[in-house]
Amino acid sequence: MIEISNLSKIYRSKAVETVALHKVSLTIERGEFVSIMGPSGCGKSTLLNILGMLDTPTNGHYSFDDKLVFDLKESERVALRKMNIGFVFQSFNLIDELTVAENVELPLVYLKRPKVERKKRVAEILERMGMMHRAQHFPGELSGGQQQRVAVARAVIADPKVILADEPTGNLDTVHGNEVMELLSELNERGTTIVMVTHSSHDASYSKRIVRLLDGEVVSENKLMHV
Ligand code: ADP
Ligand code: ADP
Repeated sequence: MIEISNLSKIYRSKAVETVALHKVSLTIERGEFVSIMGPSGCGKSTLLNILGMLDTPTNGHYSFDDKLVFDLKESERVALRKMNIGFVFQSFNLIDELTVAENVELPLVYLKRPKVERKKRVAEILERMGMMHRAQHFPGELSGGQQQRVAVARAVIADPKVILADEPTGNLDTVHGNEVMELLSELNERGTTIVMVTHSSHDASYSKRIVRLLDGEVVSENKLMHV
């Protein structure tokens, strides 16, 4: 589903060049749950941002469902992203002025889905996440774990093929972190492909494959056995 080859990203500012990714090749099949690990500054966020079509590489190819992402027009790329990719961030990135229900509804508003369908989907998804009783609350009234559950609800409401998660438990305590990881596992078991950046080996143990980066290069790929 996702195929990148010889992907490089070089940040240039004044006289300084930073090679964030160097000739990275990676294939991710539908239904996989992949962790991307490696020390700070090794290029994890850069890779995730490129996979999410939020950033462009300096060199290399990226195909998503057999479409060459960076040969598409900007508008086509945005449409491909909105249809297929959900994001979960370390800092939740909820909109404080909107209620839980309104936050979760947003991707469907962007996709111009009819209001009746939107309300129905929001109710279903909040029910599934155990957050229905908080629908009319604002993010600031929720715990970190609850906010991340809302963020996951928002990421999955439009039924994306892929969820990209950047340190999804980074701001959570162990108990709430584990809840979020269990939620992601469950979504993966229902067929959603997940790519997650993490520092935590514990979180990575929920995934099925660990890709390790070092200085912008892939240094190992290990499949995990689950019994
Ligand atoms: P990680 O997520 O693994 O911590 P990043 O992808 O954020 O790594 O960064 C990889 C390298 O690229 C680092 O050296 C970082 O300082 C650099 N970098 C990231 N974003 C930018 C940017 N916008 N401008 C310049 N350098 C950047
Ligand atoms: P994390 O390690 O939690 O992913 P980072 O510090 O790597 O966070 O990066 C946070 C954001 O800042 C990223 O979007 C990244 O692109 C940007 N960034 C990282 N390093 C630099 C840099 N040297 N110059 C400009 N932007 C950067």
